[in-house]
Order: sequence, then structure tokens, then C-alpha cells
Amino acid sequence: MRYVSTRGQAPVLSFEEAMLTGLARDGGLYVPETVPAMTADEIAALAGLSYEELAYRVMRPFVGDTFADEEFRGIIERAYATFGHDARAPLVQLDANHFLLELFHGPTLAFKDFAMQMIGQMFQTALARSGKRITIVGATSGDTGSAAIEAFKGLDNVDVFIMYPHGRVSEVQRRQMTTPSESNVHALAVEGDFDDCQARLKDMFNDFDFRDEVGLAAVNSINWARVLAQVVYYFSSAVSLGAPARQVSFTVPTGNFGDIFAGFIAKEMGLPIDRLVIATNQNDILHRCLESGEYTKRGVSPSISPSMDIEVSSNFERALFWAHDKDDAAIAGLMRELAGEGGFRVSENAITALRSHYDSGTANEVTTSAEITRNLADRGELLCPHTAVGVHVGDAHAARAPSTPMITLATAHPAKFPDAVEAATAVRPPLPKRMADLYERSERITRVPNDLARIEGVIRETRRT
Ligand SMILES: *Cc1c(COP(=O)(O)O)cnc(C)c1O
Repeated sequence: MRYVSTRGQAPVLSFEEAMLTGLARDGGLYVPETVPAMTADEIAALAGLSYEELAYRVMRPFVGDTFADEEFRGIIERAYATFGHDARAPLVQLDANHFLLELFHGPTLAFKDFAMQMIGQMFQTALARSGKRITIVGATSGDTGSAAIEAFKGLDNVDVFIMYPHGRVSEVQRRQMTTPSESNVHALAVEGDFDDCQARLKDMFNDFDFRDEVGLAAVNSINWARVLAQVVYYFSSAVSLGAPARQVSFTVPTGNFGDIFAGFIAKEMGLPIDRLVIATNQNDILHRCLESGEYTKRGVSPSISPSMDIEVSSNFERALFWAHDKDDAAIAGLMRELAGEGGFRVSENAITALRSHYDSGTANEVTTSAEITRNLADRGELLCPHTAVGVHVGDAHAARAPSTPMITLATAHPAKFPDAVEAATAVRPPLPKRMADLYERSERITRVPNDLARIEGVIRETRRT
């Protein structure tokens, strides 16, 4: 299995190389050259399997010879052993044809654990074999950073530095990053906002000397291996509702488009998905694009669903690549236009292609809060604000196609965003028992200025060699 860049100017890589590299050197994103298909019989045979066995069958063809069969099974077993629910991704019924896929039973209570725990185990196995060391640096507005720290803490060949905007993440998110005591993980509080953190990360990747010196690697949502791990729960949930004999649709609370793009890959593999519905908060560049064909930056306005607060959506480039029949030169052109002019118009053919798979909907702050209130009152479900955006949009789309089950992805546990949930319901959601002492654990934070040289200095001095 070979991986190519969406912009066509970076080397073709194996799964292992694409996973360890993250971002392609031409600025593009790696995608599989061809998507392996599963037959209807193979999909039907997934029914009743454990999550781990199902994950093995879905992901195996993408991995090529990077891992031996038994090695890959071991990776999957270890990745999900830390989850607090035997089903890993249980389904809950909301309505006759609307279901909630709970993706928040991992160690940091958000769906990012599904991919990050896999990545941690895969990196460890690949690096132990080659004897190489790498330094993972990430920028986070909250959920990604804690998921990365939780996945890599204590691993031998990896040091992890996560930059987050000082004073601008929730207390639960901060504590999840700052309380692990393992010496290979570091939370860097950057004196700036999330855009500053992302800009410094980008600068660091463009500093090729530094990049090679420390063996810089990224595990942000553009890493192909993360997308792959997220494909699995589309299969597990669809099969439990009758696929492949029955079509299902999904609604996905969306920011950087990694999660919903995994649904598209599942569909490409042969899973009978009718609609993939993009749910956005007030940062609605994707919804506007689907409606009008214009993909235009408008800045970010902070919301109560902060993990979806994006100006541009990085993985959307992959969707555009497919919508342009994999024309990498066209994608490179659009991305230049985005960087130079702050936006572009999607061609008629490409927007038609996008609309053949994706729908979209949006929820503003008032609606999101009202959905949290309503779902507790009417359905007895306490939702995190991201999930509430999804359920709002999912309800509307489910009503349009009453014979197709709608599955909305519950992307975080309500206790991860207790202030927004309490404001809407007067209920303060408790942390699950296994992390009830989070507020008592001691924190370890390195405060850094918003300055590339200073941040690189901290990383050079602190990483283990
Ligand atoms: C990251 C995140 C999202 C957005 O996922 P993308 O893959 O970036 O679209 C939604 N909800 C929560 C809770 C998240 O942490």
C-alpha cells in the first residue's frame, strides 16, 4: 500500500513513513493511492466481532508490510485496553431512527483517543524496531494535546511537547495535559492564542535543520494513521444497525474534517453510507462552502464547543482531492489561492461531487445550549456541547429520511466541558470514577513566550537523547 500527497510534489511513501512523517514536505496531506474495498460478505462477517477484531479486519489492508499480523493485533489490543467501556464505542438510541455513537470512553474522554492510542502503540513498535528516536510536537486548543500525552507517556523512543494557549483551555483539558508525571511528556503553555501555537508549529516544521535534528513528527489531525483508526467505528456502528443489508447515515460534529473524512473512507471501502452530514458551530466555513461553493476564511469566534473552532479545516483538502478526481495540481492551486487570497471558489463539478456524499448544517451558541437543555429534559441524555451541535443537525436530517438510521457521533464526555453543560442544565456532570481525582493531582507546566527560537531551545534542552 502506497501513500501519495494531495499536492503531488512529495515522495510516495509506505504506511510506516506516512505515519511517522505526518505532513508531506510539499505542504500536502498523505492519502492511500487506492482505497482497498471490502465485499458485502466481508462486511456482513464483521457482525458480532469484538471491537478489536473488527478493527483488525478493517485496518489491516492499509498497513501493508509495516506490521506483521500478530504484531498488529497486539497493537490494537494494547491501544483499547485503557478504555472504560467493553464495547469501546457503544450505541445509544435517541429516537426511532436516531442513534448516538459514544466515542468518549477513552482515557481523555474524547474521540481523539481512538486514533491517538493506536498511533502511540504503532509508533512505539515501529521505532523500537528501527532504534530511531523522534520528538512529537503538537499544538492544541484542548483535546488533541491531552490525547497525545496520554497515548505517548512513558514510551521509550518518543518525547512529546504539546503547546497550548496559556489560560485559554478548560481546567479539565489543562489538567489532563499537565498531571501525567512521565518524564517524556511536556505541556508548554505558550503566551499567545491557539493560532500562535499553530503558527509556531508550522514554523518549526519549515525549519528543516531543526526538523531533522530532533526527528520532528506531528500527530495532529492530518496524520493519515489517525484518519485510518477512525474508520473503524463507522463500520462497527453501521454493522450493528444492519449494514450491509441496510444503509445508514452519519452526522459528525466537525472542525478539521478528520473524523468525518474517516466516514468517507469507510464509504469508499464499500460500507453502505447514504449521507455524511457535516455539523458545524458558528465557525461554519464548511457549511457555507457546501451551500455556496465559496470556501472563504472569516476568522475564528470562540464558542462553547471549542474543539470545533476553526478558521480553515485542514483535512478538507483530502475531500477536495477526491472531489477533483485526485488532480493534485488543481489542489496545489486551490491551496495557493487560500494562502494568498483567503479563499477560493470550488468548481461546479467538484461541488457536485462533494454534495453527492456530504450534507451540512450548523448550530449557533443559543441553539447549542438549548439542545443540551432539551436532550436532558426530553431524552435523559447529558450531551457535551460538540455533541449537541451534532444532535441538532442530526435530528433535522433524520427527519428528512425516516427509513434510514441516523448515527450522530458523540465526540466528548459532558464532564470535559462542565461549565457549558451546567449553564444549560444546572447539572454539573461528574468525571467518571477512574479519573475522579484529576483535580487533586499535581501539575507540571513549562511557560514559554510566543517565540520560535525560545520554544525550539526548550525542546532541544529537555528532550531525552
Ligand atoms: C476534535 C474534536 C472535534 C472535531 O473533529 P475533527 O476531526 O477536527 O473534525 C469535535 N468534537 C470534539 C469533542 C473534538 O475533540
